[in-house]
Amino acid sequence: MNTINAPIYTPGQAPKVYLRCACCGGFAGYFEQHWNQDLGWGLCAPCARWIAGRLVIRERMTPTEAEADMRRTYGEPGINRAEPERVTT
Ligand SMILES: [Zn+2]
Repeated sequence: MNTINAPIYTPGQAPKVYLRCACCGGFAGYFEQHWNQDLGWGLCAPCARWIAGRLVIRERMTPTEAEADMRRTYGEPGINRAEPERVTT
């Protein structure tokens, strides 16, 4: 039995909403709600970079594993959250 009334959308076709960052509480952008976050919550670009780095350094994930983990938790960059900030050297 399906007890959840939330509509199911194909990523890239859901309505966009203003999201707050689940990490810092700031503005996270105007994106589609990700199913694995509470309604109204997303992830801002600076926190995405910080969390991705933390997964690699503290959790010892490879960058590929960290990105997969972030996609599961926070959704697709550019659809559910900002594209990650690039660090230039
Ligand atoms: Zn944030």
